[in-house]
Parts: sequence; C-alpha cells; structure tokens
Amino acid sequence: MSDVRRMHDAHRHWHNDALRVQYEATGDPMTSVLITGGAGFIGSNLADSLLADGYEVHIVDNLSTGSAAKIPTGAIFHEIDIRDVARLNEITRTAAPATIFHLAAQADVRKAIENPGFDADVNIIGTVNVLEAAHACGARVVFSSTGGAAYGEYPGLTIPTPEESEPRPMSHYGMSKMAGEGYCGLYHRLYGLDVVVLRLGNVYGPRQDPHGEAGVVAIFCARLLEGSAPKVFGDGLQTRDYVYVGDVVAAFRAAQTMGVGQTINIGWGHEVSVLDLLDGLGATVQPEFAPARAGELQRSALDNARAGEVLDWRPEMPLALGLRRTFASIAVTHADPSARPPGFLDVRED
Ligand code: NAD
Repeated sequence: MSDVRRMHDAHRHWHNDALRVQYEATGDPMTSVLITGGAGFIGSNLADSLLADGYEVHIVDNLSTGSAAKIPTGAIFHEIDIRDVARLNEITRTAAPATIFHLAAQADVRKAIENPGFDADVNIIGTVNVLEAAHACGARVVFSSTGGAAYGEYPGLTIPTPEESEPRPMSHYGMSKMAGEGYCGLYHRLYGLDVVVLRLGNVYGPRQDPHGEAGVVAIFCARLLEGSAPKVFGDGLQTRDYVYVGDVVAAFRAAQTMGVGQTINIGWGHEVSVLDLLDGLGATVQPEFAPARAGELQRSALDNARAGEVLDWRPEMPLALGLRRTFASIAVTHADPSARPPGFLDVRED
C-alpha cells in the first residue's frame, strides 16, 4: 500500500476511536463496509456486530423510519437518501467498502398500497442506485429482500416455501422487492458483480420499533408493558415465519464470504401463529380482536435448507428465548426512552 493511500486511510479511521486504536496498534487499516438502512432495526444490529469485529462501518440512512439513537457511536454516519445518486457515489468512492449491505427500503406494506410510486422509487430506483455505486467501487452487495411478501399465497404453494417456488406478490412492497432482486441478478450477470439476495422471514428481536405499523412482537411487548390489551387482527390463527434478529445478522455476515449469485431464504422454517406469540410472551391479558386487514397472508413460512447448504447458516434462537429477550429490550426502552435501544448483542442473559 502506498504512503498516500495509507495516510488517506489513517485520516478516515480517525473518525472512529476504536478503529484508530486498532490502526495504531497494528498499522493495518480495517476493512470498510457500508450499510444502507443502518439506522433501522436490522441494520443497526448488523452494524453492532460488524463494529465488534473491527470493521470500519459506514451507515447511509435518511432517518425516515430509522433513528439516530439506533446508530452505534463507532459507525460513520452519512445522512442521505439512497435516491441521491451524486452523494451516494461520493460516499462509496471515498469509503471504498468491500461489502454494501443494502437494507434501506420503504418496508411498509400499507404505505406501499397507498403510494405505489413512492414505494417503487425507493425500492427499485434506490436499489439500482446502490448497485451502480457498488459496480463503480467493486463492492459486493448483500440485498435484504423479503420471503412472505414475495411468494404471496396461492393454491399449490408449498409451505415452508422453498426458493424455487414462483413468487406471486400480493402487495406493491413485495413486487418492488422482486424488482430489486431482478436488478441484483442483472448486475451479477452483466458485470459479474458479487451479489447475494437474502429473503427474510418476519424478523423480531431487540431494538425493533414497538410504535411502528409492523413488527407484531415489539408492538405486543409495548402493549403488555403498558398493561393494555394486545390488538389481534383477524382470528389470530394466521401464521408467519418469525426469525430472531441475531440469527438474521449471522446470515448477513455469512453472505460477506459465501452465497454469491444465490437467492436464499432466511427463516426459522416453522409456522407460528399470532396467538402462539402471545402465549410465548406469557400474556395474561385477553387480546382485543379487530377485523382482518385486507391483503394479509393467512399462512407463511420459509424453507431454510438452501441457507444451510450455501451459507452454512441455521437459525439458533428458540422462539421462547427470543421473545423473552425482545421483551427485556423493549422494557429497557420503556423505562428510559432516551437511552440507546439495546440490540441483540446487549441482551444476552436468559
Ligand atoms: P427499518 O424501517 O427499521 O429500517 C429501514 C431503514 O432504511 C430505516 O433506518 C430508514 O430510515 C432507512 N431508509 C428508508 N428509506 C430510505 C432512503 N430512501 N434512503 C436512505 N435510507 C432509507 O426496517 P427493518 O425491519 O430494519 O428492515 C430492513 C430491511 O429488511 C428492509 O429492506 C426490509 O424490507 C427488509 N425486511 C425486513 C423484514 C422484517 O421483518 N423486519 C422482513 C423482510 C425484509
């Protein structure tokens, strides 16, 4: 490495004390990675894990659903929108990440139905921008796609659903994610870009927003802490594949070195109903039932065999323990809303 390059790297590393200490001790600049959506639930947990392993972590986020409080102090934060091509390219050019974890998204199914153009703008155009930036700087891309919303629900669909099943999205969100996946495939074929697509199940765990529209586990935890009845839409028998955020982070980390060119389900592999969740949380309050919401799937679970084969990944967190840890983390935030919400690395006692 040239002296100029070394000085440049050293200068960048001084943004971050932990990395500076490491740099001074070893003389080796740490590998840089970038997370779009790193101020969000999954992205900030991923950032914690990468920082703990000594990476230089850049976060690109417009704070639309994420929050500054979730960003770890060790990360280098760039408050921009992924649709701002010029600034995105400038950041990837100077940060030179080895991997871009692309998690920034319009991820609200109902918002997508209300404003499909906005959903497509963020999830399709934004993803094309990220892929272009990755192509320009030679970074691998790990794309955060969706399982349930992509496959949809139709007669003959195998549950748990394997990746070969035909995706038939039932929402604009599922459709725009599929388009993002399509562009990932294109950049892999056309330019040989290293791309891995992860189709996530319903992710739950510490630092999930309990006040959002989605994230039923966190919402239930908040209701139980307030002593109010959890609201269940429909009969509560609808199923999803609930996968712990710590396991999901492990899948993203595995995709740093494995799975190029693959589309991989990341799920627990089992159907769990909404009423099962309430049982698992030890809810003693009777839920309040409300009419089922239009467009919601009745059943969903992901076959995770391919993840075992190509990423050597298996979910490890049993539901009961994962629910307890989620509840514990949300209780901390409930008691002190000004504190940084604990992530999966902070909540490890049983
Ligand atoms: P989140 O809302 O907590 O995180 C998304 C982050 O992206 C937020 O910090 C938000 O501010 C940022 N963002 C949104 N639009 C942006 C834009 N235009 N420019 C820059 N930043 C922008 O959601 P999450 O649950 O952490 O989800 C992360 C990713 O995983 C998303 O791509 C989502 O579609 C996908 N996913 C999540 C789940 C789940 O159960 N949470 C399931 C399947 C897929």
